[in-house]
Amino acid sequence: MIGRSVIRRERHGLGQLPGGTDGDRYSRGVALGLPSVMPGGQPAIGDLVRAPDPTFSFEFFPPKDDEQEAQLWRAIRQLEPLQPSFVSITYGAGGSTRDTTVASTERIATETTLLPMAHLTAVNHSIAELRNMVGRLAEAGVRNILAIRGDPPGNPRGDWIPHPRGLTYAAELVELVRHSGDFSVGVAAFPYKHPRSPDIASDTRNFIAKCRSGADFAITQMFFDVDDYLRLRDRVAAAGCDTPIVAGVMPVTTLGTIAKCETLSGAPFPPALADDPKAVRRLGMAQMASMCRRLLDEGVPGIHFITLNRSTATRELWRDLAPVRA
Ligand code: FAD
Repeated sequence: MIGRSVIRRERHGLGQLPGGTDGDRYSRGVALGLPSVMPGGQPAIGDLVRAPDPTFSFEFFPPKDDEQEAQLWRAIRQLEPLQPSFVSITYGAGGSTRDTTVASTERIATETTLLPMAHLTAVNHSIAELRNMVGRLAEAGVRNILAIRGDPPGNPRGDWIPHPRGLTYAAELVELVRHSGDFSVGVAAFPYKHPRSPDIASDTRNFIAKCRSGADFAITQMFFDVDDYLRLRDRVAAAGCDTPIVAGVMPVTTLGTIAKCETLSGAPFPPALADDPKAVRRLGMAQMASMCRRLLDEGVPGIHFITLNRSTATRELWRDLAPVRA
């Protein structure tokens, strides 16, 4: 783990890292973009998830056209009064949304009362481009970044081929962001293990190494069985890693997702409801609310709702959880 005092000493701005450190790797021959303005004033999500009360946060994806843009902002405005701890904007597959991710995150930072976190992936980016992206996010006033490797464009299960001047694993991106300024950095966690990991043991080892490379917190992939989350949390803690792991959940409203819940949780889905979309939705929402209540009982540091840029299901779930949120 990179010590906080080391990070503070290294706040020299992008491209001015001291010699003889890991920072060399990221500073050599890099054509810098915008000058770095160290983000200040915004809370660090790493601190928020360590506070006694759990965080509640919402995830959005960057819009691809005007219609999606309008939908995103409708959802943001409808969810803003709930005063989530933070909101995040994903990074499109293959690095395809770099401009809209920055633009949307910046707009949230400047035009709303919300605390934004930008997702950043290493796909198709050289180290120089990644440093430039981090600089743009800093310029936009963003202090919190979720550093993830990303999947290969096209086929997410295809071979991972790193950019010739890029990074191979998320742990390296965590280091790059940490060395670039006073950012609070999150990483991805996988309750069922990452699909590419051959087994749980190596997945856990790599996850802990990623945390120790400078992550302040982690957020899980969505899951449908609380026990899977608890097993992840417990095996990571048993290995001596205390990085808070926020639970990623998605309010489910369609039969396809509920069928997945059934497979994963073993909870039987009443066949009579299968032809009734309203009943399906009701059951899915009830199942998600009960999952969130159990997570809160178990002392989860936070719950991150994947909204798919819609607000209705998230607001319903929020209302259902009111008694346990208080
Ligand atoms: P890594 O931590 O690098 O792990 C990838 C694989 O490599 C794992 O199997 C790991 O065990 C293995 N590994 C790690 N280190 C080593 C090592 N040193 N030696 C050998 N093997 C190693 N994708 C997007 O495109 N955009 C997004 O905005 C986005 N947001 C996400 C948000 C969350 C909360 C989550 C959980 C995922 C998100 N993803 C996103 C998906 C993510 O990019 C993919 O799941 C990706 O395949 C893995 O990213 P990672 O950061 O976990 O990679």
